[in-house]
Amino acid sequence: MSKNFHFYEQVNRSFDRAAALTKHDPRMLNQIRECNSVYRFSFPVKRDDGSIEVVHGWRAEHSHHKLPTKGGIRYSYVVSEDEVKALSALMTYKCAIVEAPFGGAKGGVKIAAHEYSNGELERITRRYTYELIKKNFIGPGLDVPAPDYGTGAKEMAWIADTYTSMSKGELNALACVTGKPVAQGGIRGREQATGRGVFFGIREVCSDEELMKQLGISQGVEGKRVAVQGLGNVGYHAAKFLEEGGAVLVGLSEYEGAISNPDGFDLEAVVRHRKDSGSLLDYPGARNLERSSDILELDCDILVPAALENQITKDNAPRVQAKIVAEAANGPTTANADEILVEKGILVLPDTYLNAGGVTVSYFEWVKNLSHVRFGRMQKRFEEGAFNRIVAAVEARTGTEFTTEERSLLTRGAGEEDLVNSGLEETMALAFESIRRTQQTYGEVADLRAAAFINAIDKIALCYEDLGFFP
Ligand code: NAD
Repeated sequence: MSKNFHFYEQVNRSFDRAAALTKHDPRMLNQIRECNSVYRFSFPVKRDDGSIEVVHGWRAEHSHHKLPTKGGIRYSYVVSEDEVKALSALMTYKCAIVEAPFGGAKGGVKIAAHEYSNGELERITRRYTYELIKKNFIGPGLDVPAPDYGTGAKEMAWIADTYTSMSKGELNALACVTGKPVAQGGIRGREQATGRGVFFGIREVCSDEELMKQLGISQGVEGKRVAVQGLGNVGYHAAKFLEEGGAVLVGLSEYEGAISNPDGFDLEAVVRHRKDSGSLLDYPGARNLERSSDILELDCDILVPAALENQITKDNAPRVQAKIVAEAANGPTTANADEILVEKGILVLPDTYLNAGGVTVSYFEWVKNLSHVRFGRMQKRFEEGAFNRIVAAVEARTGTEFTTEERSLLTRGAGEEDLVNSGLEETMALAFESIRRTQQTYGEVADLRAAAFINAIDKIALCYEDLGFFP
């Protein structure tokens, strides 16, 4: 990663480019763009060998125009204040785009998570949470973290438990964090949500007749040749849903290397191979690419960077061959690279839209925690009863009987996961429609990234106009 990469500045460059196309008061735009609060702190952690290590942490709350603020926590050795500010800003715009009622936030802990034992990670997570509690940087109505790079349901459970232990009977305490295990107040479908949302976003763009004509490729996901960088939570699930949707996975990469096969991979078999051999490389029948980052230059229809920021830069952008760059990660394309891709006629599906499935389902989890009831619990049986009566009436009128399979398909009521996936699909489809409409309104000057930013800016500006500024 280049040392001169200033992520926050990159996000603001994209913001400024879009903001210049709007008619909002520049002072209002400044307020929308500014990062409101950053809490930087250090704390000691006792390692398993008894030694004490100082760990550095951050939480940035970019915008308080809606509360609580929301955004993941990243465990990474290269995380910095600049990075969490940038990611918190992206969260503000992302939430506005998918109409999740939050301001943006992001947290970071500067550790290489794989170098710590489970017990050490638990102590770090609990102490990090405690530091947030001390400064009111966490709470169901204040700031609600979620998983991000290097964290998952396990860490979210520790955060929930630490907060609950310290909140003395606060009824809504579990809503202090999302992405929890289902048994600890999490929601079915959250783990897959970001990758599933990436799939829905790609499916939407691929079904747009005009855009596909411009790119000179056929409509639909089926048969599209896809390369995925990073097989973590987001990359793995995006790849899985794309594969299920009929796409051909022609390239896959992890930090240790990249492999390609024009005939396509079986994702599960590749994951098994990596688990057994400790590396993606040397997969039977595949070609090892020289460097892991060569995945970005692979001949394919859709490139899905799903690892980290600052991957497609001005140095490799001229060699990107994909027709569509689908930004599953946050900030994978630098502002300079973005200009190059657009000039080359490559369509970029921006991160602010494409990976918003995670926060969308986190929103559903937060609502579930506040309402203290699982989605579908009240109506599932009722729906099934009604469907059974309809099926029986149809059978009586037609004098024919449905097969057992048909009957069970027709009469199934919606459970939690069905409702979550349906809400996610609706959200991603509506947001795409809205971004596309904006793009069409602005014409040539706005690509999808600018259109997504304009949508976000308009919504946040409206919020400030309605509410005014305190005092
Ligand atoms: P993760 O830690 O689960 O997975 C990241 C994967 O990328 C890991 O397997 C890692 O080994 C791999 N990787 C790291 N460097 C690489 C490289 N140079 N080349 C190839 N692979 C590399 O993290 P995640 O949650 O999947 O997050 C990935 C990206 O998606 C981040 O940018 C994150 O901010 C963004 N994101 C995550 C979520 C979420 O719900 N988890 C939501 C929105 C956005």
